[in-house]
Amino acid sequence: MIVGIIGGGASGMAAALAAAENPNVQVLLFERQARLGRKLQATGNGRCNLTNLHAAHGGYHGENAAFAQRAIHDFDPARTLLWFQELGLFTVAEESGRVYPYSDQANSVVDVLRFALDKPNIQVLTGVEITKVRRTGDTFTLETAQGKHVCHKVIVACGGLAGTKLGGSMAGYKLLSKMGHHATKLRPTLVQLKSSWGGVVSLKGVRANCHARILRDGAVFAESAGELQFTEYGISGPVIFEISRDVCQGAGQWLCRLDFLPDISREKLLAALQRRCDTALTAEDLLTGILHNRLGRVLTKAAGISANTPIRALSQEALEAVCQAVKAFDVPLTEPLGMDSAQVTAGGILTAEFDETTMESKLVPGLYACGEVLDIDGDCGGYNLQWAWSSGRLAGRSAGKETL
Ligand SMILES: Cc1cc2nc3c(=O)[nH]c(=O)nc-3n(C[C@H](O)[C@H](O)[C@H](O)COP(=O)(O)OP(=O)(O)OC[C@H]3O[C@@H](n4cnc5c(N)ncnc54)[C@H](O)[C@@H]3O)c2cc1C
Repeated sequence: MIVGIIGGGASGMAAALAAAENPNVQVLLFERQARLGRKLQATGNGRCNLTNLHAAHGGYHGENAAFAQRAIHDFDPARTLLWFQELGLFTVAEESGRVYPYSDQANSVVDVLRFALDKPNIQVLTGVEITKVRRTGDTFTLETAQGKHVCHKVIVACGGLAGTKLGGSMAGYKLLSKMGHHATKLRPTLVQLKSSWGGVVSLKGVRANCHARILRDGAVFAESAGELQFTEYGISGPVIFEISRDVCQGAGQWLCRLDFLPDISREKLLAALQRRCDTALTAEDLLTGILHNRLGRVLTKAAGISANTPIRALSQEALEAVCQAVKAFDVPLTEPLGMDSAQVTAGGILTAEFDETTMESKLVPGLYACGEVLDIDGDCGGYNLQWAWSSGRLAGRSAGKETL
């Protein structure tokens, strides 16, 4: 039996290895780029956050997020780590649950997968793009610019649209749509957010640990704590990625309220500022030693205080205004950055059209899908790759197991 897998990314490689566990299966793994796992190689800032120890307990989204449970339960983070260990990868888990290769190099993950794919019953075809899939009787014909391939089962593992420069594309959605499947609206997620506030430019490059709250028309939409980074167009960093899902999708006034000293109360901060009133310093040093210097100056100015005002001349109201700026600073939001910059695509092919126990299409028998092309996306921190491994293995095992 021939199983054709379209896409040599995280889920496609996992699917290929699982299908090939049946020695009677011949796997054809098609990858349109010159190398396997191009996006995987860029994950986690080149470190590859390959899973999260908490992924078995949720952290997935989509019109029917529960669809992901079966695959994740069958091949959970613990089993995934065992699998990688068998492939020869050493890993290390951080306190947060994020797991990385011990080498701290995403390359290591790609390499052990590549080595494992070197099997007599797996043929890897790189630089080969599948342009069309046709169902012809009991088989599928996969068309490429170089010729045609006939397969008994097909797994679509083309990934999503996010990270376009690393290979994200519409290909998978188009192939599946042509076979009768439907997609939900695609949105960028795990993405930076743009702001109309001019102050971000002067803070470009500044990092701060903060508590961030997304508000839509004054109501809390999402919140998290962690590192924030200012960029020339807005706000970024892990804390923003975590709460970026569906921000600015839909009408309303969107803003991000930042607390730059989440562990220190307003009263404590006010007392510290009052102590500074005994000094001969000017307002530009009011927050020196407390926050990043540039951030401190911008916040003091945002509180309506000019830099050369002597601190001892500041009124109680002025000090309270500074505390307000530090503890609840509002950054107006306009839109997320585009799919180019996003790590993941929210939305995708309707999971209701697939069997969650096998990843097989309910519309076209013998057709399977896995990974980001489906309408499942995970939280920041290794959840998306866990979905790619789990769904890929389930699709591969199911496609490889069935008898003709
Ligand atoms: C910069 C960045 C950092 C990230 N970091 C992390 C992280 O640290 N942890 C985490 O969990 N997630 C991370 N992600 C998300 C994660 O990489 C993806 O969710 C995951 O790779 C999806 O796996 P996939 O197999 O569905 O798709 P992909 O890994 O994108 O693979 C799909 C493959 O299919 C190929 N393909 C597409 N169409 C065709 C066709 N017609 N014919 C042949 N081949 C085709 C593509 O070239 C691609 O190689 C990151 C994403 C980005 C962009």
